Amino acid sequence: MPAVFTPSENIALLQESATIAVSQRAKALKAQGRPIIDLSVGEPDFPTPEFIREAAAAAMAAGHTRYTAVDGVLPLREAIAMHANRAYRGLDPVLPTEVVVSGGSKQSIYNACTVLFGAGDEVLIPTPSWTSYYEIVQLARATPVAVYGDPSRSLKVTADELAAAATPRTRGVMLNSPCNPTGAVYSAEELRAIVALAESRDWWVLSDEIYQRIAYEAPAPSVLDVVDRRDRLVVINGVAKAYAMTGWRIGWTVAPRAVTQAMTAFQSQVTSNANTIAQYGTLAALTQEAEAEAAIATMVAQFRRRRDGALAILGASSDIRLVHPAGAFYLYLDVSAFAARAGDAEPGFAFAQHLLEHDNVAAVPGGAFHTPAWLRCSYAAPESDVLEAMRRIVKAIDGR
Ligand code: PMP
Repeated sequence: MPAVFTPSENIALLQESATIAVSQRAKALKAQGRPIIDLSVGEPDFPTPEFIREAAAAAMAAGHTRYTAVDGVLPLREAIAMHANRAYRGLDPVLPTEVVVSGGSKQSIYNACTVLFGAGDEVLIPTPSWTSYYEIVQLARATPVAVYGDPSRSLKVTADELAAAATPRTRGVMLNSPCNPTGAVYSAEELRAIVALAESRDWWVLSDEIYQRIAYEAPAPSVLDVVDRRDRLVVINGVAKAYAMTGWRIGWTVAPRAVTQAMTAFQSQVTSNANTIAQYGTLAALTQEAEAEAAIATMVAQFRRRRDGALAILGASSDIRLVHPAGAFYLYLDVSAFAARAGDAEPGFAFAQHLLEHDNVAAVPGGAFHTPAWLRCSYAAPESDVLEAMRRIVKAIDGR
């Protein structure tokens, strides 16, 4: 008899990443010759800036091909601390010993949740939010608690809404501004109110700031901009999005020393250091600032053009409600008007399927972000594709 695989308790609740599943389906259809416009992936379509690629090549030529310290090479941790201290004005500047460099910010979040939370703990997750938070919290055996934002406030949550969802078991809150999937940006005041609540309740604040540099109307504040102490704060960031470095797999945490030590010990048993060559590429990204700023400005300007073009087309439909996209590179559309006419129970899923099958457009159903009436479209795709996809979406919504 063939052996039967029974998944262990560790992954009893695990679901595959829905965003990755949609983009795999889009790729499979493309391979069959279908002219799919793929707005499902959250990945800049630009090459990594040349000066970063050159720095990595130079590092490799110079023999930086071995293990590094588990938490990353010192110059990189110094550069990360320096960037953090531009925002943080408290009496305890961030030290390089409070930084752990990991294999992508996803690993950073996993490290943080693993060392901070455990069985019986609850973690508040402003919802909609990135699909992996719920899963990572569950892998830490804690319970993710979705707190739903109101459409009138760009689906952001308030401190009062978080307080109402809290129980004596609440241990933390997961912030993400600019937000994936909505593109909403929390103001300094909104962040301040949430941090004040967390402080008063002794909750951990995890702030995933991976999209911070991609904001269109005003700079998106970091939580480090609004706090004057950080003894219960873990800031997560990385180079994937703003520097077009998704494949390099470098992210990091800035956290109090004791938490940093625990995360380093954990990482030392799981993956050891992040890729050495990628660490040197990241060092160039964070220290060759004139080149980095020019590259980010160019990419953000292109995202903005696409966003503005998309908004102009979507604005023509009275049936589409969307979150004002102030940052990141996503449009979050309420597609319940489509489903109401069709009588579908899961509007985002039904509409995404319709779009893919009839209009050759791939986008992610809002169910992936725990809000099934919505649909996420990434505009990290060529401008002509983004605009054509928006025309097809308007036609699909208005025409049924
Ligand atoms: N956080 C958010 C909100 C994201 O959207 C993503 C990527 N989709 C990540 C973290 C993970 O990024 P990285 O490539 O650094 O692991």
